Amino acid sequence: MTTLRVRAAASTSIVHIARGALARTGRLARSAGLAPGPCALVSDTRVARLYGKALERSLRAAGFHPITRVVVPPGERSKSLARTGALYEAFARAGLERGRPVFALGGGVVGDLAGFAAATWLRGVPLVMVPTSLLAQVDSSVGGKVGVDLPRGKNLVGAFHQPRLVVIDPDVLATLPARHVRAGLAEAAKVGWALDAPLARLLERSADRILAGDPRALLAVIVRAVRAKARVVGEDERDQGARQLLNYGHTAGHALEALGGYRTWIHGEAVALGMAIAARLAVRRRLLSAAEADRQIALLTRLGFPPAARVLRRVSARKLWNAMQLDKKKSAGSLRFVLTERMGVASFGHRVGRAEVIAALQDAGCTP
Ligand code: NAD
Repeated sequence: MTTLRVRAAASTSIVHIARGALARTGRLARSAGLAPGPCALVSDTRVARLYGKALERSLRAAGFHPITRVVVPPGERSKSLARTGALYEAFARAGLERGRPVFALGGGVVGDLAGFAAATWLRGVPLVMVPTSLLAQVDSSVGGKVGVDLPRGKNLVGAFHQPRLVVIDPDVLATLPARHVRAGLAEAAKVGWALDAPLARLLERSADRILAGDPRALLAVIVRAVRAKARVVGEDERDQGARQLLNYGHTAGHALEALGGYRTWIHGEAVALGMAIAARLAVRRRLLSAAEADRQIALLTRLGFPPAARVLRRVSARKLWNAMQLDKKKSAGSLRFVLTERMGVASFGHRVGRAEVIAALQDAGCTP
């Protein structure tokens, strides 16, 4: 078992990473200082069917009961204020008191939704993340960003609420559809290229084993990615500095997600394309060599993504620029990008104007 600590201003999260850890969640929660008694368990229908019973058994055995179960439909649409309201309703009906924990069992959607409800219910109750998608295991379950979407855009409402405990069990990835495994690998590649060269090299070396579902290869990637994220969150919990590096690939990525109506590309796929675009932009700005950009884009193909240039042929640079205008990181007439300088080294806050962005989008494969 690998145990890491994420030290934030007001609290410390404990992260346990081990095969089979899911069944030990109850005991781990007790060791993390949570008292036995009532709790809530939030999941989506797909994950609840697969792992709900195992988690409940573990919670009950450690004294966490009665359990108030809330199960939402899988998918981004559940990350809404309406679902948050339904969670509050269930917590209220069960009389969930201050100090009683919320367990979030699922991917990034469940983590963000249950986390937001935990951050705001009674002004904050303890949160335990049990991430089951690779994206959630390498990224979203750690760091305390929680929130929901509005019809106008993603993640527009949210909070910082550090989980008391994160329990990462790579064995649950055996049932995760390949498309979602790839999406998680894109976030890991993002962490690697933006701030941890050994992780990027590990992904290059073990891509074949990872894609074959070798749990040991996945475990190594998860540990490395979480360690890197924990470091950045410890330095900059509130996203004022280094943590912004984790937005690498997201300026174009979020816009692509929106342009595709959140159906064409799932988050990680859009981030992979966003990285290819940002890499071309960095070459244009002479921050990154063309060879390094090619290497970065080649890693994404090795991880199972179709070549970015081929996918982006279907995307108009002008439309994508327009979609990027909704980005939270925009400032009058220009957009702010995170750009890589070499493997594992990136910088944030690069202001780029329309002409340069459109040119980079075309370099990456978009049509005018
Ligand atoms: P998701 O939660 O929708 O999960 C993807 C799909 O996989 C769902 O259908 C789910 O039911 C299924 N699934 C999950 N685990 C499974 C398993 N073990 N076996 C079988 N099926 C399983 O999506 P996601 O990709 O995990 O997360 C995306 C969300 O995360 C987005 O809303 C994004 O904004 C958010 N996110 C948040 C942060 C953060 O720091 N808070 C960071 C990155 C992404």
